[in-house]
Amino acid sequence: MSLTDDLYKEIILEHFKSPRNHGRLDHASIMAQGANPFCGDELEVTLLLEGGRIREIRFEGKGCSISQASASMMTEAVTGRSLEEARILAHQFKSAMLGDTSVQFPEGEEDLEALEGVRKYPVRIKCATLSWNTLLEGLMAHQEGRTEATHLEGEEGPSADLAAHAQGKDPSPFESGRAAEQIPIGSGSGQSGDLQEQVRNALRSVIDPELNMNIVDLGLVYRIDIQDGSLRIVYTLTSPGCPLGPVIKSQIQSSLAAMGWVKEIHPELVWSPPWDPHTMASEEAKMELGIW
Ligand code: ZN
Repeated sequence: MSLTDDLYKEIILEHFKSPRNHGRLDHASIMAQGANPFCGDELEVTLLLEGGRIREIRFEGKGCSISQASASMMTEAVTGRSLEEARILAHQFKSAMLGDTSVQFPEGEEDLEALEGVRKYPVRIKCATLSWNTLLEGLMAHQEGRTEATHLEGEEGPSADLAAHAQGKDPSPFESGRAAEQIPIGSGSGQSGDLQEQVRNALRSVIDPELNMNIVDLGLVYRIDIQDGSLRIVYTLTSPGCPLGPVIKSQIQSSLAAMGWVKEIHPELVWSPPWDPHTMASEEAKMELGIW
């Protein structure tokens, strides 16, 4: 079975948008936390075992689309399986990600092949293996009589080369997003983070008509300053020749004016740094732009 890249992306994006088994089990037999510092992905997996099988599994987390989609697929693939079957599947998946083309996933688990497309992007392999390694760590803890486990990507396997990639070639969207969040905002009220998020959400209604995607996920909003009721939005456009400048500016103003507490809005268009979707757009936007 050979899937095209587009279909791969579609499957991954679908799991990312509608994750299966999302949440947390209250009476879990095992709780395992995993982190992938190369990209900033975090997961918490809870499992309920019964009769040597995984009766239920849930995950919660944050991070890139690949890490979260992979976790969704993992939970689907191991539900109902014996611990040994789950372990074998985890190792098969990891071998496939490391380039073993002879791996045959069990019937009904062909979706897992979608992640093989990630092999072309070495820095993202850890995003895809995070959920499976976290699962393995949890199963190992169980075997040793513990109920909790933690896993850190990079602590096993060949990692030095991937780490170098992570630092040089593929800055994570979390890093680029962080710049905007470090900006001192407001006057020390505990709500400043919430207000930023409110503004960000309001700006998501502003769509760049050329790409048909919102300006926040495209990474066009560089900075949001909130000072009492006054808002300063520093943003850019996809290209200096963009004829849509005035339209986007007025959309920014009207989307923000809809929030009751906003008294003044100052949109500020800048061209430096120039927009670069590879480092600035969200994972989801990059997928839709085909540049993940
Ligand atoms: Zn990731």
